[in-house]
Amino acid sequence: MSDPIEEITLDGGWLCLDFTNTVSTRKPETGGEYLRSWADFILWVRRVGLSGEAEFLAWQRLPPGEISEVRALREAIHDLFAYRAKHGAIHPAHLDTLNGFLHEVYMHTIICATETGFRRGVADGIHVEKPLWLIALSAEALLLGDKLHRVKACDNCGWLFLDTSKNGTRRWCNMLTCGSQTKAKAWYHRKKEAESRKGK
Ligand SMILES: [Zn+2]
Repeated sequence: MSDPIEEITLDGGWLCLDFTNTVSTRKPETGGEYLRSWADFILWVRRVGLSGEAEFLAWQRLPPGEISEVRALREAIHDLFAYRAKHGAIHPAHLDTLNGFLHEVYMHTIICATETGFRRGVADGIHVEKPLWLIALSAEALLLGDKLHRVKACDNCGWLFLDTSKNGTRRWCNMLTCGSQTKAKAWYHRKKEAESRKGK
């Protein structure tokens, strides 16, 4: 059986949101864990293409890091954006936690030139925690950017995603896996209602 992490759908539309979606569901509570070991994290890093092939191969040969740290960063990012999606605000405690991670990450960052300006990036070189730094910076960029209000939680499974639809009305992480379920359910309930009215 292949590892679920190899087939996981990447519906987040933003690196750090895909990272939070490495559990089977968030509703009603956190479901099956897809990041059970460092080996799972390696598979995920390759899946999302966090680095070039040569760098990835060198990185995956390093002694493994702590999967508990990986999950701690994931839950910190999840809590921050899930709260934002639900309440339209950032909880100060969630911000403190993210700041704690970023404080560590900043020691390894540099300002890089891009085609249109500059951005904060991670210095060249291989480090076991480098993927975590990139994910933390992805969360920072989302938080500081102009798309924060488009972060949403799927109505059906609670996964987080960036709503890039024109009118901002997307409700599901994935139309096929969640939208169709909800739509089918809504249709079923409407049909039931109609039938019960007819019976009266
Ligand atoms: Zn969903």
